[in-house]
Amino acid sequence: MLRIAIQKSGRLSEESLNLIRECGISFVNSSLKLKTECTNFPLEILFLRDDDIPGYVADGVADIGIVGQNVLVEEGKEELTVEKLGFSKCRLSLAVPKSDEYTSIHDLNGKNIATSYPNLLKAFLDAQGVQAQIHTISGSVEIAPSIGLAEAICDIVSSGSTLISNGLKEVERVFKSEAVLIASPELSPEKRGVLEKLLFRIQAVQRARK
Ligand code: ATP
Ligand code: ZN
Repeated sequence: MLRIAIQKSGRLSEESLNLIRECGISFVNSSLKLKTECTNFPLEILFLRDDDIPGYVADGVADIGIVGQNVLVEEGKEELTVEKLGFSKCRLSLAVPKSDEYTSIHDLNGKNIATSYPNLLKAFLDAQGVQAQIHTISGSVEIAPSIGLAEAICDIVSSGSTLISNGLKEVERVFKSEAVLIASPELSPEKRGVLEKLLFRIQAVQRARK
């Protein structure tokens, strides 16, 4: 039996479950349960917070998982990637108050930037030769400028409407993300066999979607 970790409730959940279903795999999904066994494929689904998924897969608590590249790379676990899944596409961007004059990334030198992605942000700023103070906060990043916590933010954007409604404008794209399938590097031959079968089905689903 192969164990897959997916997000319990959030922007990855529905598409992750849809993908498993489209692979022809059946399961009973109750929002109260933290795990469920599939009925026609040797797969057990664990429902977790997305941030915990790379760690659980790296530690072997789960064999495989579905997570956003933003979380995976932030946690330094990119090497677990097996396959890009093409959904939950978003970007990590820098934004500043709409009324600020902004000409280049160097305008951020010496500024305070609030984010939940300090590692991705630091790598980007270092590559651009910009020195700024990074303030790591776990949520509601977009309100940081209006409460005086930071002059800029670095957060996940898809349509940009959350930025606009908080009086911010997107000024730099830091990282592009989509959902990926990840796997533990130390699977038993049996589990690796099940993963190969699952991957074959996932690839067929993806071809059919195109
Ligand atoms: P959890 O409670 O599991 O920690 P969360 O609040 O951290 O959830 P979500 O907002 O559900 O996370 O986002 C999960 C992932 O979905 C993100 O890490 C990102 O990869 C992707 N994502 C985030 N926002 C969007 C969006 N607006 N559109 C598409 N994908 C997104
Ligand atoms: Zn999360």
